[in-house]
Amino acid sequence: MNNTVLITGASRGIGKAIAIELGKNGHRVYGTSTNQEGVYAIREYMAAHNINGDGILLDVNDYNSYKDALSIITEPISILVNNAGIVKDNILFRMNDEEWDDVINTNLKSVFKLTKFIAKQMVKQKYGRIVNISSISAFVGKVGHSNYMAAKSGLIGLTHGLACELGKYDITVNCVAPGLIDTDMTKNLSNKEDTINKTPINRIGTPEDVANAVVFLCDSKSGFITGSTIHVNGGLYLN
Ligand code: NAP
Repeated sequence: MNNTVLITGASRGIGKAIAIELGKNGHRVYGTSTNQEGVYAIREYMAAHNINGDGILLDVNDYNSYKDALSIITEPISILVNNAGIVKDNILFRMNDEEWDDVINTNLKSVFKLTKFIAKQMVKQKYGRIVNISSISAFVGKVGHSNYMAAKSGLIGLTHGLACELGKYDITVNCVAPGLIDTDMTKNLSNKEDTINKTPINRIGTPEDVANAVVFLCDSKSGFITGSTIHVNGGLYLN
């Protein structure tokens, strides 16, 4: 079954890999970026991979723009991947309100707002797949990361709640929790080698490692999996 997919933050990194993998599976894919350069980047890789879809300018924190920004999608969306995320690390006594609010808003509140907007269409269709990109940081602690850890833990709770509410419409809601993945977000991390040494699979993850788990959860055959979290971390966190 071919679906229409919306992926937030698809200009690069994990979102880009998800867009390419879902596109290769024959879905029509719309990916978002907050800037025009990112939209062009999305269009470019979609063309290069023969993917049916488009890039869309969208800031997930600009709730009032959802309707206009997404109006180019004329078919009902049946797969939503809430991937957009940021980090703004600081220790408690140095963390200002802006750092806290930006991370909570982008990584958690926007998922509530966008899912509320899109899930209405899924309820009408009586079908949907929602995947939220959480993080190993929801499970493993790190100094200076409390805003991000709170947001990514909140995403797990939000996923549980939405799975309970939307299951009766054949809509599944799941999380993927990546470990250390090679993207712009992690390029300046100082302790990468140390983390890789602690990882049983003994390498950094690729965006495609994460994308493959998302593709699995988005499959129509994964309809009895909801409220779950798939860990994609090379064994760094074992639960
Ligand atoms: P990335 O390379 O930094 O890319 C982040 C993406 O999010 C970009 O496409 C960016 O779009 C988008 N974005 C940021 N703020 C946005 C906003 N306000 N509205 C819409 N889009 C926005 O990060 P990544 O590593 O691929 O991370 C993707 C997701 O995986 C994030 O949720 C992250 O927390 C999570 N994650 C990553 C890792 C890791 O090791 N990399 C580990 C665990 C979880 P622009 O084009 O506008 O910049």
